[in-house]
Parts: sequence; C-alpha cells; structure tokens
Amino acid sequence: MEPIETFRKDFPILSQRVNGYPLVYFDNAATTQKPRQVIDALSNFFLSSNANVHRGLHELSNRATELLEESRQKIAHFIHAQGPEEIVFTKGTTESLNLVASSLGSLLKPAEGILLTEMEHHSNLIPWQQLAKQRGLRLFYLPIKDKEGGLQMEKLEEIFTHNRIAVFSFTHVSNTLGVINPVESLCSIARKHGVISVVDAAQSAGHRLIDVQKIGCDFLAFSGHKMCGPTGIGVLYGKKEWLEKIPPYQFGGNMVLEADFSDSRWKDPPHKFEAGTLPIAEAIGLKAAIDYLCQIGLDKIALHDEQIGSYAYSKISSLPCIIPLGPKGRRAGIVSFSIKGLHPHDFISFCDRYGIALRGGHHCNKPLLSKLGIDSTVRASFYFYNTQNEVDQFMEIAEKCLRFFK
Ligand code: PLP
Repeated sequence: MEPIETFRKDFPILSQRVNGYPLVYFDNAATTQKPRQVIDALSNFFLSSNANVHRGLHELSNRATELLEESRQKIAHFIHAQGPEEIVFTKGTTESLNLVASSLGSLLKPAEGILLTEMEHHSNLIPWQQLAKQRGLRLFYLPIKDKEGGLQMEKLEEIFTHNRIAVFSFTHVSNTLGVINPVESLCSIARKHGVISVVDAAQSAGHRLIDVQKIGCDFLAFSGHKMCGPTGIGVLYGKKEWLEKIPPYQFGGNMVLEADFSDSRWKDPPHKFEAGTLPIAEAIGLKAAIDYLCQIGLDKIALHDEQIGSYAYSKISSLPCIIPLGPKGRRAGIVSFSIKGLHPHDFISFCDRYGIALRGGHHCNKPLLSKLGIDSTVRASFYFYNTQNEVDQFMEIAEKCLRFFK
C-alpha cells in the first residue's frame, strides 16, 4: 500500500485538532470518514446534475438517471454480481436486512426455522425475531465457542439436519468481536441443506474483497457510510431468481408498472424494491467511494485492517485490568475490551480529552454481551487511513487513564 499519509491528504477532517490534540479517529465501525473525492461527487451532482430519476424527459433527469444507473453497475461489478438487476438501493444495511426478512419471510411456512448466530448486530436479529413472532417461525442460534468469538461450526450440520431451517442469516465480520467468519464455508453448508443464505456485510464491504459468486450467498447487505460513502445509502444484493420471486417491501411511486383504481403491477427487480425517490446523490457518492477504494486496492486495505487490528489487540491486551474480546489470531480492524473496575464511558471520555475518538456501549450486540457476562465495552475500530503511530498514541493515553483511575 502507498504510504498512509498519501490517503490522509484526501480526508481533510482527519487533520484537525480536537480538544487541542491531533484527532485520532478510531470509530470507523460506526462510520468511516469521507475523502474529498466523495464530497466532490456529492456537491458536483447538486451543482450540475440534480434532478429526479427515471421519470423525466429532460436533460438533467436523464443525466441523473445515467449517473444513478452507473453507480448500480459499478456496485454490481464491485461485488461481482451477475448484473445490475441484482443490486437494490436501500438506506443502509438495516433497511436491506428488514427488506429480506419481510419479503423473503412472507414466503416461509409456519414452523420453518431461521438460523442466526449469537454475534448478530440488532439489525440482523430484531427483523427476524419480529418475523418469527408474526409468522409462527422458529429461531435458532449458532453458538460462539468463547469470548474469542469463533463459531461452533461443528453444530451447523446438526442444526440443519434436525430442524427445518429455511434461512441462515449471519454477519461476515463481527462489529464487536472483530471475528472474520468463514462466509464461503457457511454458505456452502447452507446450500448443501437447501437453506437460503443472507450475509450481513456491514463491517466487511469496503474492508475486503466481496465476491458474491465466490461467497455463494443468496443475499448480501451493506451500508455506504461504513466504506467512505455517504450516509443514507445502502445495498441489498439478491440473486436474480430470488429478487424475482420475493414480493416488494414497500409500495408507492417508482416501483409500479401499471396501476388502476382496483390493482397494480410492479416493475421488474431491482426497481420493484425501490418505492419512492431514491437517495440519488448518495448513490452517486457511493460510486465515488468505490472508485476511491478500488484505486487503493481492497486486498491492501484488508491486509492493513488485519495488521493494525492485530497490533492494537496485542498492545491493548498487554495493559493491566483489560479483558480483550475477539480472536487472538487473525482478526479484522475492530478491537473491543472491558476494563476491570472502570466503566467504558469513563475511559472513552478520558481519551476524548486527548482527541481520541472511541465508542463505548453494547454496540447493538446486547444478547452477545449478555452471554459474555458484560454490559458494555470500549471499541477501537480502524480503517486504512489509521496508522500504527496513532495506536501508539492511544496506548500512551490509555496507560495514563488507567493510572488516573487506579
Ligand atoms: N450489521 C453490522 C454488523 C453492523 O456493524 C451495523 C452497524 O454498525 C449494521 C448491521 C447496521 O448498519 P446501518 O446502521 O448502516 O444500517
């Protein structure tokens, strides 16, 4: 990878001082910063091409439509979908997963099962819980082994064999544990049992190569804002045959082919899932983010994520009173930990006084943390613009904090 300083120049926000100290932004799992190229794409759109899409006959509308559809094409290419018709624009991962739970869920039969893992974000848990309640479906959880967070893979075959599981929905990378799940194996075992697979790629898209055909999933969801793109735009990838089969999620303008006072007919996918005006500028911003990330190289970003994640994990684990979570070995650039005798919020507020941005709480992983016997953790999460030097700066402040509260 090129020197990190080269990329940091594209992120003016990173060069500011916070509370008198250079900003150290370690809250990337919540949202990433945006390079100038993405900000420019958004403002250029508003300055020169802003119009609503698909239904206009004027130049600006045609231009906006072209830009939007170029973005769809780019996303399809980015995740190696078979074509743009497999890419649905949503508000984000949460909406993508609600869409699948609701639309695919309506085809499930009572007493069929849905399998999740114990490490799911609320966004990949609550929609399925609600569906299960409404439709009389059964929910199962693939357990984790311990606080390192590896999945009990040996249980998977057993669960599939003894229960009528119809859908298996799981995260690629855990937003609390930093575990990288073996997506390809999980999907392949699911496929062998005729189970539909849904991948929550909120923490992996933009951090590593995503190839939906290699992964072999039926659906995959991610958010633009966690990969240098704007907020308000997300993606649901669905295999063409599934998007054709499942019903629309919302109804209204844009998704209708024909309507009269008694009935209506939908457009083909992906448009039948895109009711109302889309986040057009944001979708165009997401294309700029993808261009930016591809220029760096996803393999290089993934390597940097794993290296900085492991470096931070080993440094943090060496501190007294720290209970680190997640794997000791290969991991993503997300490190969570609790501190004996100190609330995460005190630790985070202390670090903030020195310009270090961390996150504390349950990270929308309440059931996982309850299982681990923890209320909340401190989470440091990294991206390609973070340096080892920043981790060292953080360690100095972390040690100061632990001495202060001792
Ligand atoms: N899934 C995981 C693993 C996440 O980390 C997040 C957000 O932190 C989400 C889903 C939800 O993403 P969004 O809030 O962008 O919809």
